[in-house]
Amino acid sequence: MIKTEKLTKVFRTEDIETFALNGVDIHVKKGEFVAIMGPSGCGKSTLLNIIGLLDNPSEGIYNFNGTDVSNLKEKDRTQFRKGNIGFVFQSFNLIDELNVHDNVELPLLYLKMKTSERKKRVDEVLGRMKIGHRAKHFPQQLSGGQQQRVAISRAVVANPGLILADEPTGNLDTKNGIEVMNLLTELNQEGATILMVTHSDRDAGFAHRTINLLDGQVILEKSTS
Ligand code: ADP
Ligand code: MG
Repeated sequence: MIKTEKLTKVFRTEDIETFALNGVDIHVKKGEFVAIMGPSGCGKSTLLNIIGLLDNPSEGIYNFNGTDVSNLKEKDRTQFRKGNIGFVFQSFNLIDELNVHDNVELPLLYLKMKTSERKKRVDEVLGRMKIGHRAKHFPQQLSGGQQQRVAISRAVVANPGLILADEPTGNLDTKNGIEVMNLLTELNQEGATILMVTHSDRDAGFAHRTINLLDGQVILEKSTS
């Protein structure tokens, strides 16, 4: 499903060059649950953003589901993401002006789905994430754990084959963190491929496999199950 070869990312500002990724080769098969680990600044988010088609690599190859997506234009990356990739962030990234229902509906609007089908899908996913009673509330009216459940609802409402999560429990207490990890595990058991960035050994224990990065390079891969 995901295959990268010698993936490199250089951020250039006027006088500084930062090599965030220095030749990353990773391979994730359909149905896997993989954790990416490593110290702050080692390139985890940069890698996840490229895999999630939010950014392009500077050099190297990224193949997604058999297609070379290394050099897509922004418009084509957006098109490719729709319905294929769901993204969950540490800081939830919900839209404050939209209520829970409308936040979760967004990916379906982008897919131009019919109103009745949209309503059915949003109700289903909110029910499943145990947040249906909050559909009319706005993000600021929810706890962190509830906001992350809304964010996960939005990431999965279009049934993407790939779920990417960047430190999804980073802003949650232990109880909510474990709930989120249980939800990701369930989604994986139902067939979604999951690639998650985490600092936490507890969270990594939910994955099948860990990939450790250091200074933009893979230094260790190991199976956890
Ligand atoms: P991690 O998620 O592992 O903490 P990041 O992938 O966010 O690390 O960052 C890797 C390196 O790239 C860091 O040195 C960071 O400062 C740098 N970096 C990330 N994004 C940018 C950017 N947009 N512009 C310049 N440097 C960046
Ligand atoms: Mg990061």
